[in-house]
Amino acid sequence: MIRIIGAGFSGLSLAYFFTKLGNPVTVVEKKSRTGGVISSEYRSDMLIESAANGFLASEKLEDLFADIGIQPLSPKKESRKKYIFRKGLRRWPLSFDETIMLFARVAFGFVTGGLKPRGHESLKAWAQRVLGLAGNDYLIQPMVNGIFAQKTEILSAKLVLGSMFFKKRRRHLKGLISAPNGMGEVIQKLESYLRNQGVLFELDKDEKTQPNTPQHNTFLAIDFESAISSFDFSKTQQPELKKDDFKSLSLARVTLNFKNKVDQIDGFGVLFPNKEREFFYLRCSSQFENF
Ligand SMILES: Cc1cc2nc3c(=O)[nH]c(=O)nc-3n(C[C@H](O)[C@H](O)[C@H](O)COP(=O)(O)OP(=O)(O)OC[C@H]3O[C@@H](n4cnc5c(N)ncnc54)[C@H](O)[C@@H]3O)c2cc1C
Repeated sequence: MIRIIGAGFSGLSLAYFFTKLGNPVTVVEKKSRTGGVISSEYRSDMLIESAANGFLASEKLEDLFADIGIQPLSPKKESRKKYIFRKGLRRWPLSFDETIMLFARVAFGFVTGGLKPRGHESLKAWAQRVLGLAGNDYLIQPMVNGIFAQKTEILSAKLVLGSMFFKKRRRHLKGLISAPNGMGEVIQKLESYLRNQGVLFELDKDEKTQPNTPQHNTFLAIDFESAISSFDFSKTQQPELKKDDFKSLSLARVTLNFKNKVDQIDGFGVLFPNKEREFFYLRCSSQFENF
């Protein structure tokens, strides 16, 4: 019997893959509901997502959606348009000279094999090396702010760009996908699918997590903070690591419904380079029809 601790999307998807392999699974969750940080609710006819409002499409995710009976929802066409702020809204924030330099750098990297992230290179170091200063400040930094809400110097280039360089993907859909009634529907349908497949759920049960006494059949899919605080690094292969070496990124979603149309932007929204403003990100429009 496989035991998974945590019924957020990580725990539920892990249960899904183990079930597909024919393993009996029990999922233990300390709260009374599954989904972890993900939930959706309608208020005044508006869908409010508490965390993710879409997952990056992949073949595995599309298969999962098909199995649990969800027709994936792709973002609205108009939401593909993105603006970057550089002394005003711009679709392409680089000057003519900067653009020529950027293409020359990418071509050089392509020919010399220097495009791939190196070892422990940060995303900022990668962007400055491969795309140059303007490429980092006005393309990579604002885009990354829009996804991770964090500075590129603390993100690993390999982790963020890995799938572009190290994995071959064959996908039907591109970009984010969601469900007609929001991400909460993905959780509900995944839970019912798993129950129908015989997965047992133990809700309201705070499992004592003991990652240092590994049991070969127990998997932790708990939130990052709990995982780090319950971890004893001295017993791992990297005892030099300390809890302080790990930082979690704080991310908040604010959903506003304007009664009257305010200056509407035809597109997804505006990304702000750190150089232009100290706040990270502002999205101005909804991405999916379900909002
Ligand atoms: C505002 C916001 C926006 C986001 N937007 C996106 C997005 O657009 N796209 C995207 O892909 N991702 C997005 N994310 C990230 C994504 O939502 C999360 O990475 C993902 O949902 C985390 O799932 P998880 O299962 O790993 O963790 P969690 O959802 O935190 O689930 C962990 C579960 O473990 C349980 N647990 C913890 N300790 C124990 C214990 N001792 N015993 C039993 N159970 C325990 C918890 O109660 C919880 O249910 C966003 C996140 C936020 C906050």
